[in-house]
Amino acid sequence: MKSASKDEDKLGELNLGEGFDTESENRVLRATVSYLREEVNKFKRRPLVVCDIKKMIDDKAIIRLPNGNFFLVDVIGTLKGKLSSGDSVVVEQRSLTVIDKLNEKDKNFGVEDFVIIEKPKIKWDEIGGLKDQIRDLHEVIELPLKNPELFREVGIIPPKGVLLYGPSGTGKTLLAKAIAASTNATFIEFVASELNQKFIGDGAKLVKEIFQLAREKAPSIIFIDELDAIAAQRIDIGTSGEREVQRTFMQLLAEIDGFNNLENVKILGATNRVDILDEAVLRPGRFDRLIEVDMPNLEERREIFKVHTKNMNKEKIDFDLLAEKAGELSGAEIHAICTEAGYFAIRDNRKKVSQADFILAIEKIRNFEEEDLKMFG
Ligand code: ATP
Repeated sequence: MKSASKDEDKLGELNLGEGFDTESENRVLRATVSYLREEVNKFKRRPLVVCDIKKMIDDKAIIRLPNGNFFLVDVIGTLKGKLSSGDSVVVEQRSLTVIDKLNEKDKNFGVEDFVIIEKPKIKWDEIGGLKDQIRDLHEVIELPLKNPELFREVGIIPPKGVLLYGPSGTGKTLLAKAIAASTNATFIEFVASELNQKFIGDGAKLVKEIFQLAREKAPSIIFIDELDAIAAQRIDIGTSGEREVQRTFMQLLAEIDGFNNLENVKILGATNRVDILDEAVLRPGRFDRLIEVDMPNLEERREIFKVHTKNMNKEKIDFDLLAEKAGELSGAEIHAICTEAGYFAIRDNRKKVSQADFILAIEKIRNFEEEDLKMFG
């Protein structure tokens, strides 16, 4: 299959030079149409399934799908005689015909390709407001990681897992990264919904590997975003997809239960939907400390504006007025307002951002919000 970049190169080669005429224009347009057609076709194609060959029987293969089922399938002509048991292959979704073989490098997509591992550099003063949440995180994550002895001496058990919950864009990820930075812990982040979408059949295995990785990289913090994607209550677990999510969830609980409160690995979960979480995940010894991260109040909005304008070249700004006008907007939206205000100044050929730029930017972001609401209800 041609890569988009190769096609783009081809278009580049056809770039019109000096002797531009209708014929060359035609050629370029035809090439453009064929490139775009190929791009559109990519959206129509069904994804291929990655699976393993269990056994070759003459020119047919017994394959094992990620959901554990076995099938006896055909192999395309070009691969005949080139496959053996243990090979990773890709098969067409409907007929399950083997159409390509993966090389060693491609088949080793594992935990390190899936999670984001970093040593964040976010400082506490980059967070506006959220003082109570920061204090809680100091007590339940930082103190036990830095001084486990204190807890042993006093005889109390710190929580293993903390759940940050609240609306989108309110700073949950920011808090998690800041606590990792202040404890110098390795930050291992993954989005739970991706576990289900990208690694069908492998979710539970991956969860196991993530916890293993966290132990190897300790002190570390595992940050599970969109926790509700695997930890929501399930009324019905009839389909194989639902059973798979359930298996992943069970593995998550087993991993959390499997380590000690004073180990130097901490788990932080984040969700916008605490109301739908399965009670099992909130039981003592699991995510047993809940920290609410709500929309910022007036004072907090003022502080968030200050954080995001700290390095901006600006005129005198009335932060109280901005905070008031940005009522009911999140930290993420206030960040977007500050960037947008900067663009207003650039478009106007000015080097300094003015109060009026911020007011215009607030209106613009509010309009976006309203459009979104209209579109998605
Ligand atoms: P989601 O639930 O959608 O994952 P979230 O609560 O994790 O959202 P973050 O990713 O932490 O939100 O925030 C997004 C961005 O919004 C941050 O990178 C930051 O720029 C800005 N932001 C949000 N809250 C604050 C805050 N309290 N102070 C400073 N910046 C903030």
